[in-house]
Amino acid sequence: MATQDTAKIERILAALEGEIGPLEANVPGDPVGQIVGTILSQNTTDTNSHKAYEQLCGTFPTWSAVRDAPREDIVEAIRSAGLAETKASTMQNVLNALPAPDGEPSLDELNDMDDEAATAYLVAFNGVGVKTAACVLVFALGRDICPVDTHVHRVANRLGLVATKARDRTYSALKSVIPAGKAYVAHVLLVRFGRRVCKARNPLCHACPVFDDCAFDDRHECAARHAERGDA
Ligand code: SF4
Repeated sequence: MATQDTAKIERILAALEGEIGPLEANVPGDPVGQIVGTILSQNTTDTNSHKAYEQLCGTFPTWSAVRDAPREDIVEAIRSAGLAETKASTMQNVLNALPAPDGEPSLDELNDMDDEAATAYLVAFNGVGVKTAACVLVFALGRDICPVDTHVHRVANRLGLVATKARDRTYSALKSVIPAGKAYVAHVLLVRFGRRVCKARNPLCHACPVFDDCAFDDRHECAARHAERGDA
């Protein structure tokens, strides 16, 4: 990566951290739980998916119990996440496909794989895409990976960090943009910034801490519109 690109992303991350506040540490955890949680989080809010995850774990004591339960019982437990039939089916199919050396579905094999091999291993399961695989790698295994959701994709393109049309392309392109060791921080900051400031519609360009580093063509017009309305 060119020095000026490195300086730009580091400047942006510092400004976003100033805006959003210091982040909680990434504490690696259960990769099977992470894959289930990421399936539940698709097309819903964090609040709804966390509620569904808590309900699921409160109803079934182990992942093998989730795997072996009647489908309708899973659907009932995760209803708050929406698309419950689809998510229950995807979740049970993945849990069924995972190795279970001691009876419990396990992703321990990932520990012996590099990022590329681990991603290929995960996306081979039906219903697991690149973003879900990346979430497992960063949040459960502590790998230096930046998952790309709709916010990361939009903000990274507006800032000119990448120039891509599809999320999977953004994921690949960001690997050479984000400094080593900063992928978790970059992911969380870009997601939160995308939700609070650089929204999909009507971004708050007039109050943006990285305005001068932004490459979004409409940013001046957008900022002027907010200023005319007297927005804070
Ligand atoms: S100036 Fe506007 S478009 Fe650019 S990063 Fe800030 S909020 Fe997003």
